[in-house]
Amino acid sequence: MAVPLFDTSTPLAALRPRLLEVMQEVVEDGRYILGPNVSAFEQEFAAYCGAGHGIGVGNGTDALTIALRALGVGPGDEVVVPSFTFYASAEAIPPTGATPVFCDVDPDTFCVTPETVKAVMTPRTKAVIAVDLFGNVAPVREIEALGVPVVEDAAQAAGTTYVHGRPGGLGTIATFSFFPSKNLGGFGDGGMITTNDAEIADRVRMLRFHGSYDKVTYQHVGYNSRLDELQAAILRVLLPQLDGWADGRRAAGRHYAEAGLGELVTLPQPSPGADPAWHLYVVRHERADDLAGALEARGIGQKAYYRVPIHRQPAMAGLGAGADLPATEEVARTHLAIPMSAVLDADQAAEVVAAVRGFAAGA
Ligand SMILES: *Cc1c(COP(=O)(O)O)cnc(C)c1O
Repeated sequence: MAVPLFDTSTPLAALRPRLLEVMQEVVEDGRYILGPNVSAFEQEFAAYCGAGHGIGVGNGTDALTIALRALGVGPGDEVVVPSFTFYASAEAIPPTGATPVFCDVDPDTFCVTPETVKAVMTPRTKAVIAVDLFGNVAPVREIEALGVPVVEDAAQAAGTTYVHGRPGGLGTIATFSFFPSKNLGGFGDGGMITTNDAEIADRVRMLRFHGSYDKVTYQHVGYNSRLDELQAAILRVLLPQLDGWADGRRAAGRHYAEAGLGELVTLPQPSPGADPAWHLYVVRHERADDLAGALEARGIGQKAYYRVPIHRQPAMAGLGAGADLPATEEVARTHLAIPMSAVLDADQAAEVVAAVRGFAAGA
């Protein structure tokens, strides 16, 4: 039995009639930019996260750049960011004029820690991007206790719960992506910024509309980056499903553990106090590429997402040259994502584990 790397269509099947209905409503209503669905979804999503304000933007990458700008990040500043994450986490920094400074991660949680951040902080550090990687949670409060604001990149962590609340409500400001494959995905690009700070929220709203508070006077060079009305209408149908889908992702993780996967590879560890809605289920193995080949031969989806960490990507080569990131190098070399979705069942998990066992036996 083949098992795909992810399954975004099965969970949507039963919702199709309602989704088509709300899309038709938007078409008939005719308000496509910053309409009633965007306002409503901003409030509903912020409330879900336990944040006071939500501001819809064009995508999760713009969300990061705009969040940094709203914190006052600009030329001459440094922003600390992990190298082991999706490229956009770091790519969002240079457009502000600031310089990315790469930090290491905890290899068990894949997230930054106060120690890895502190190791690279300088007097020029203006902000930290802490990524909730793979649905796990970065210790946002503990990092802010170092005296620097955190932009929580929660693009992969919608649906996760944590001892201090939910991603999006943990620190100064947080960002989300509604790219179709994320835990809460729309039918195109979309993003959101959440914050509890009313002044920061005002600046974000200004920046997403060309740097203008009143659409008459242009105070700043901003962005044209909004969540579409059509996407907002779709996401309002999907948000009430998120907790159920998150439980499905947790159950999939349990199916793997119960089938004995932990005896064969290193399993991802939830951060202390976190109950992750695994976005990707990423295991580690010394011979990750060989394991990938063996799984591929058996029809099991797998992918090494970040084999070349960001500080060694061509575009960042000048910035990452001096970086000493031993845990990043280790997890970049050994990680492998295996099938994960809201609907991955015990039989599929057993099939994946049998394939890993077959590889281990032949190795
Ligand atoms: C997907 C993702 C982004 C970017 O989101 P887009 O909507 O694709 O721009 C940023 N950071 C992380 C960690 C992501 O996974």
